[in-house]
Amino acid sequence: MTTTPENPTEFFNTTAELVIAGRKIRLEMLIPAGPTRLAELLPLFRYLTDSFVDFSVENARAQGLEVSCRKGCGACCRQLVPISGIEARRLRDMVEEMPEPRKSTILARFEAARRRLEQAGLLEKLREPRQCRAEELIPFGMDYFHQRIACPFLEEESCSIHAERPLACREYLVVTPAEHCAEPTVESVRGVELVLRTARTIRGLEAERSVHATPWVPMILAVEWADAHPDETPLQPGPEWVREVFSRLTGRTIPEPPP
Ligand code: SF4
Repeated sequence: MTTTPENPTEFFNTTAELVIAGRKIRLEMLIPAGPTRLAELLPLFRYLTDSFVDFSVENARAQGLEVSCRKGCGACCRQLVPISGIEARRLRDMVEEMPEPRKSTILARFEAARRRLEQAGLLEKLREPRQCRAEELIPFGMDYFHQRIACPFLEEESCSIHAERPLACREYLVVTPAEHCAEPTVESVRGVELVLRTARTIRGLEAERSVHATPWVPMILAVEWADAHPDETPLQPGPEWVREVFSRLTGRTIPEPPP
């Protein structure tokens, strides 16, 4: 990774080149130089996610696989979507900034979903994901899916916040027939094999560095979770956050750039 200060008091213009399975991926990043909260890097994390997903889709095509996800197919938008705290707060702020009556419409959908989950007996566990052991995640996810609760942002079976959608949504693309997504099983639905997993990496990083230590936030509870959990992640220079993210993504220590 090479970094050159574009404006030493504000941003580093950074280029990273990764070689994955013999193919090169080049990333152009603008990174805040000074003390930065993890949330300020969300646009960068979206860029990284989209870049790795595009690369992964090209790999899938090279193996003769085609992505079957299409606009107007929102079956996966009834699944349990795990997001990071920084994304939950961003979604809450985005809803807050919406003009009326849209804001009230979206908030009413969140509230209706909360009531449905309470009636189904799933709410308490969703509010405390640390109670959910690893082996319980898939059956719990299926219980959730069988409630058929649409994401509050799903409209006419399409995502109404496409540019702002969470990292987990960006990473979810399938190569099996779309009709299988209506009744998904581990065997019948196969996702694009991701070369690097940004969503999981950011969730893990935030959980470790925040006092809340929440491993993931269910998107359907994003607004109430964000209201109850202010941002407590530490401030640290942007390049340090990015080095940490790349170390976790690649499993390698990323050296500091020369002074
Ligand atoms: S944010 Fe968009 S893509 Fe993600 S679950 Fe909701 S509607 Fe679907």
